[in-house]
Amino acid sequence: MPDIIQLLPDHVANQIAAGEVVQRPASVVKELLENSIDAGATNIKVIIKEAGKNLIQVIDNGKGMTDTDARLSFERHATSKIRKAEDLFDLHTKGFRGEALASIAAISQVELKTKKEDSELGTHIRIEGSEVISQEKVSASNGTSIAVKNLFFNIPARRNFLKSNTIETRHIVNEFQRVALAHPGIAFSMYHNDSDVYNLLESNLRQRIVTVFGKKTNEKLVPINENTDVVEISGFVAKPEFAKKKRGEQFFFVNDRFIKNSYLNHAVTSAFESLLPQGSYPSYFLYLTVPPKSIDINIHPTKTEVKFEDEKTIYAILRSTIKHSLGQYNVAPILDFERQSSFDTPYEFKRKPVDTPQIQVDPDFNPFKTEKSTTLKSASTSSSSHSHYTPKFNTESWEGLYAGLETQKISIEQPTAPDTLFNEEQSGETHGSKTYQIHNKYIVSSIKSGIVYINQHLAHQRVLYEEFLQNITVKDAMSQQLLFPLDISFNKSDIVLIKDILDDLISVGFDFGDFTEDRVNIIGIPVNTSESQIVIILEQLLEDIKNDVPDSSYSQHDVMAKSLAKSLAIKTGTHLDLKEQQKLVDELFSCKEPDTSPFGKKTFITVTLNDIDKQFNR
Ligand code: ADP
Ligand code: MG
Repeated sequence: MPDIIQLLPDHVANQIAAGEVVQRPASVVKELLENSIDAGATNIKVIIKEAGKNLIQVIDNGKGMTDTDARLSFERHATSKIRKAEDLFDLHTKGFRGEALASIAAISQVELKTKKEDSELGTHIRIEGSEVISQEKVSASNGTSIAVKNLFFNIPARRNFLKSNTIETRHIVNEFQRVALAHPGIAFSMYHNDSDVYNLLESNLRQRIVTVFGKKTNEKLVPINENTDVVEISGFVAKPEFAKKKRGEQFFFVNDRFIKNSYLNHAVTSAFESLLPQGSYPSYFLYLTVPPKSIDINIHPTKTEVKFEDEKTIYAILRSTIKHSLGQYNVAPILDFERQSSFDTPYEFKRKPVDTPQIQVDPDFNPFKTEKSTTLKSASTSSSSHSHYTPKFNTESWEGLYAGLETQKISIEQPTAPDTLFNEEQSGETHGSKTYQIHNKYIVSSIKSGIVYINQHLAHQRVLYEEFLQNITVKDAMSQQLLFPLDISFNKSDIVLIKDILDDLISVGFDFGDFTEDRVNIIGIPVNTSESQIVIILEQLLEDIKNDVPDSSYSQHDVMAKSLAKSLAIKTGTHLDLKEQQKLVDELFSCKEPDTSPFGKKTFITVTLNDIDKQFNR
């Protein structure tokens, strides 16, 4: 029998290795940036064309390479960073595998120019799919420039697998931000399709964070500093009132390397404890320095996971340091995250004239509730707060104690309040005709088989979600033109993102005037929104798009529709008049999928007559 095992040719082995190292253009950006940093560069420029699909070029002023090194750098396992296995346990560089350039060269067309300071001429090498096309001496400036063209040109399946430009650009910006935040002392710039996205000068950490995330960030930051034998911690956390509704700006760096670590993330979150409104996430930029020997960064091929020798101690130190700093900066008062209902969209769409309600109904009427009196209610309407504080020891409150009972009695018989559960039954009508709101939260309606309880917030999310999705795909949304256009400032990468999703924004009803590099001029907004909400809506939308990194244009539309629906849905606590209630119920049940919110929560529950009967026959 003949032997059948063969060694894979290098270019095949490199292509296979490339699969691990290079998932997408952003991976190339990361590897090239890290090489430039390892080469001691103080100024690094990134040039991107078509989300990195056509070109990724990184130019540095680092130490450059000799002729031979330049050629060798593309060989697999060629590295200048470790020499023996022990070096792995004392790493001071980002790279060490010697795989990146070989992998990148296996799946793209690479052009390298490099020169060392003490050489007169530099080297120019062109490689396509691992094959050296040319190598010559050229005049060049000190440092290295690597241009990676047509990524995956020789693996069409992988190239087709790349996501939309918006998504790939987002990944690139994420990598760029991580590296830039880890090295505030290095100047970075980034250009995408010839417009400049970032121009970060050499600075301190605080300035770097602020230039990356926008001027508004400055006031949010609380400094963190702690030195122990096990770990040095520095950086910032954002004050709790600036917590994000989505896990957004959370950065850990260990020895200047961005890492993800859910255990340490938990330490931070728990340090905030009760300071955070429910369902929100703290922003943080935390820099841990530990002895290189005490960590293992080898466990993940793309090196974003790190194993610590003494994770428990670091957890404890991190938590108490942040707690202490939050206390010291006295960040106690927290804004109420639930916006007041007066800011919320009136449910009636603006394009329709708003009728004055004909019937006066006590919005808070509830036959089963006793603690709140009519007296107190009228007293509290003069204040805008929703608090139900009961003043003690005055006669009013004594009256209050009984008032509930009275209300109950009166209301049942009250002819002016026909919309109670009790006379629904006689009307014998199905949903849509008679509704009733309880606790400014649920809408109750009678149906043939019993009663349905609708969660107004979740139901409205469903209605808006389907409407937005329809608008984005059919592109027929109405826009209300603003008399006074809004001028809103964003950071540069957000402006790039807005431009990327411009078509979709227009299709849901936004209309834009001029863009500058950090401001947008908004001249029209979707019909069912109000001006005061626009900043919040857009910020939330950008955040959602960044976080969800959708994997197709459909899912990007989906993220958008969900985000807008979430921001705009009537909130719990909003009083709805009868018409609004009925409109919501009708719209909900004309939805394609009325049962659940866009996030999968139940929009309503039904209690059948049978269920009720059973309760009485127990
Ligand atoms: P690694 O970074 O793991 O060593 P790479 O394949 O990324 O492996 O790079 C191979 C070698 O090429 C590096 O060890 C370094 O000596 C050299 N090199 C790569 N990029 C640069 C650069 N921008 N400037 C100087 N030398 C570089
Ligand atoms: Mg490298």
